[in-house]
Amino acid sequence: MGNCLFCRIVKGELPSDKVFENEEILAFHDINPVAPVHVLVIPKKHIASAMEIGEEDRTLVGGIHLAIREVARLTGVAGDGFRIVTNIGRHGQQTVPHLHYHVIGGRQLEWRF
Ligand code: 5GP
Ligand code: ZN
Repeated sequence: MGNCLFCRIVKGELPSDKVFENEEILAFHDINPVAPVHVLVIPKKHIASAMEIGEEDRTLVGGIHLAIREVARLTGVAGDGFRIVTNIGRHGQQTVPHLHYHVIGGRQLEWRF
């Protein structure tokens, strides 16, 4: 996906403030944080959204959850708790069509839509 923003970050064509990386996954600070900790965890493979995850991605998705746990430890939010969000499509207000999980914490969060 040549013009996908997050694919370009994965390739190093655009800079990012990395928190965690392994062979399949990258985590970096959101450019417009909504809380003291706001990290995006993404598969390096282009998957448009959570609705595009396939059978072949089972291991990858498990790996993303393990990476989220690591990100929570590294950013210091594991103890007090945090939130994982993945937006999907128009009603979900997904703005970047490359699967990503927001890891948000570092302050008391509210739950209201
Ligand atoms: P979405 O709205 O699709 O759920 O989340 C996209 C997120 O990507 C937003 O929180 C936005 O601030 C973040 N974002 C957009 N462009 C960039 C960028 O170039 N670098 C980083 N680090 N984050 C970005
Ligand atoms: Zn992509």
